[in-house]
Amino acid sequence: MSDRVNRVVLVGTGAVGSSYAFALINQGVTEELVLVDLNKAKSEGDAMDLNHGIPFAPSPTKIWFGDYSDCQDADLVVICAGANQKPGETRLDLVEKNTRIFKGIVDEILASGFKGIFLVATNPVDILTYAVWKFSGFPKERVIGSGTILDTARFRYLLGEYFKVDTRNVHAYIIGEHGDTELPVWSHADIAGRKISDWIETKDEYKQEHLEELFLNVRDAAYHIIERKGATFYGIAMGLVRLTKAILQNENSVITVSAYLTGEYGHEDVFIGVPAVVNRKGIREIVQLDLNDTEKEKFAHSVAVLKKTMEPVLK
Ligand code: NAD
Repeated sequence: MSDRVNRVVLVGTGAVGSSYAFALINQGVTEELVLVDLNKAKSEGDAMDLNHGIPFAPSPTKIWFGDYSDCQDADLVVICAGANQKPGETRLDLVEKNTRIFKGIVDEILASGFKGIFLVATNPVDILTYAVWKFSGFPKERVIGSGTILDTARFRYLLGEYFKVDTRNVHAYIIGEHGDTELPVWSHADIAGRKISDWIETKDEYKQEHLEELFLNVRDAAYHIIERKGATFYGIAMGLVRLTKAILQNENSVITVSAYLTGEYGHEDVFIGVPAVVNRKGIREIVQLDLNDTEKEKFAHSVAVLKKTMEPVLK
């Protein structure tokens, strides 16, 4: 019998990273979890605190504060490190700053001999996932961004609330940039196999304009949460755990992630949110939805905005 166990290295134990670590051990997803952060004291404190919760977890996880050499035996490196947008700073400033930080992080991870899968959550996530792919030289299948996983979850949650149906019975996707140009794929949104456009006909109280408003609430959710509590972290943390499970347990689950396009949806050389089959090897394949003309146009716009934003930094 092999004594090989799953190891996840988490780089960046701020609000998102530490929430991910907490959710991960509560679901017993990995046997080993290594915490790495520039802020050594915070990360060390987190490792101690989380270890004290192990007696209450569904299965034991070995947790320690480590360094990049621990990536050598890791199956998955999850990156939640980076700077946040400061007042007066443009999005491009943030792209430049985080790309520089990521170059340093990826170089250190590669120096360990890491051969696993990268999972990126830091914003702007689609561009930084591209940066990790480029800096690492890894095959595209082994570089995954959290993409629109959270936006899709928000969409499903709100649709479930609106139609008063368990959100797990809602099948609907948000695709595109994780940001202002993302779009809902209404043409393939259904609840229990019945199109949303049919559901809306079943009761007078359901209205098309409510659905349009619902999407705006999905798209702008981060702004609404940041206004109230300064940052968003629980939802994305749970989404990252969902992805970690899909990878480590070889689930072949369909999840909206930031994946590298090589002609899918008519575009190439960009990481962007699309549904994809995820398993132990990373991204097995991208699921191509047959978009209608409006959706195609919006998706093309999202691709164009991403390419334009990253051009000065990554091309
Ligand atoms: P945070 O400031 O709380 O944490 C960032 C952490 O990164 C800090 O602990 C910091 O010490 C660490 N760090 C910075 N540079 C580092 C380096 N070179 N090496 C190692 N560690 C380093 O921020 P947060 O709220 O946890 O957010 C983290 C990122 O996640 C942000 O970019 C945020 O925008 C993003 N985010 C993404 C999603 C999503 O859906 N993808 C959702 C929410 C937040």
